[in-house]
Amino acid sequence: MHEENSRNLYDRALSVMPGGVNSAVRAAIEPYPFFVQRGDGGHVVDVDGNRYIDWVMGLGPLLLGHDLPQPVQSAVQTHASNGPMFGAPTEIEVEHAEFVTRHVPGVEMLRFVNSGTEATVSAVRLARAYTGRDKIVVMQGSYHGANDSTLVEGEGNHLHPSSPGIPDDFAEHTIAVPFNDHEAAHHVFEEHGDDIAGVLVEPILANYGIVTPTDEYHETLADLCDDHGSLLVFDEVITGFRVGGLQCAQGKFGIDPDLTTFGKIIGGGFPVGAIGGKAEILRHFTPSGDVFQAGTFSGHPVTMAAGLETLKFAAENDVYDHVDDLGDQLRRGLTELCADYAPEYTVTGTDSMFKVIFTREGPEDRSGQCKAGCKQRPDCPRYDYCPKDGGDVSDAETDRWRRIFWPKMREQGVFLSQNQFESQFVSHAHTEADVEETLEAYKEAL
Ligand SMILES: *Cc1c(COP(=O)(O)O)cnc(C)c1O
Repeated sequence: MHEENSRNLYDRALSVMPGGVNSAVRAAIEPYPFFVQRGDGGHVVDVDGNRYIDWVMGLGPLLLGHDLPQPVQSAVQTHASNGPMFGAPTEIEVEHAEFVTRHVPGVEMLRFVNSGTEATVSAVRLARAYTGRDKIVVMQGSYHGANDSTLVEGEGNHLHPSSPGIPDDFAEHTIAVPFNDHEAAHHVFEEHGDDIAGVLVEPILANYGIVTPTDEYHETLADLCDDHGSLLVFDEVITGFRVGGLQCAQGKFGIDPDLTTFGKIIGGGFPVGAIGGKAEILRHFTPSGDVFQAGTFSGHPVTMAAGLETLKFAAENDVYDHVDDLGDQLRRGLTELCADYAPEYTVTGTDSMFKVIFTREGPEDRSGQCKAGCKQRPDCPRYDYCPKDGGDVSDAETDRWRRIFWPKMREQGVFLSQNQFESQFVSHAHTEADVEETLEAYKEAL
């Protein structure tokens, strides 16, 4: 495999960008990442001409793959040639917001921003302002972007910032509980209920190995929030318009959150974020309310055009059937391979997301186990072994995954996400042949 061009680029990059990258996870590949030259359907080609089946898909945004369908492409071009942005409103923002509010059950109003990080920062500010309380409950191992309020480590309310540069006092207002732990959630509300502005939760832990909720977990959170006057904030930056199709994960799980954050897919491959929710809460944002929120690029016409046309394309074509079906084939194939080659590993994911977690233990008798990704069924023989929260995922063989397994997949022309924790995504451009080739590669590498 040639890699001179990537090596040379990384050498240059190290001199001018910290770690040679603009987002940390890209440098997780050792000794250096490959640099992409272009995408092609469900594949990427690097600067040395190596071609990979791409299951990273921009780390989530690219529902349709790398080739924008004609309506998306022409909308992007039209809006770019009209002049990129104006600092004044445009029609396309209204259309996009109308589309999202029409399809997502918990969303009556929307404020667009430029990243998922911005969305969670603004949602936390809004929840605090609306309730007049400071404390935010998050899940251990969840990810809400580069948000000072949620970059915390530790347990319960003995937290400290997980990065230097964040004052210790910030962590005082954040409480972390293990995902899927009903008792811990009850306990935290018993102790701090009157001070909790909101619970910020990914409907599925999607940045930490893919952990699906156990039965009734979100109902427990919703009830606790209801009883204590706290807001339930669903972070659907990854799951939005990926899990559950156009109704998002909240529709699939039948939960009606007060606020929802979006990002990734709703920008059609361009930088985006959004805070949605009940109109009565959203109206507290400036200028209709007094909670400050603003952005030069927010509602960028090119992004809005790409996002809206992507979602319309998904609504009018068999996009979700296709990606969910291939996701199912991958998870089923991987479950069979793991049974033969690595019975202790757990296949996770749902809809068009998939991952193999290198868990260290599994059941002796696997008959009746989930066939297409862990569903957290109490009667599954894996139930006691499959990850329930972030701690279980970090106890897996993460070094083996990254240092041994990932390079072996790359050698075979399969691009997987850069570490054990990030999800992998099926796009509309992927084919059954891509699935078969990928399963062959897993067979070699497991
Ligand atoms: C990606 C992600 C974010 C951060 O979004 P950025 O656009 O990278 O700032 C926040 N929350 C979740 C659940 C995400 O997956």
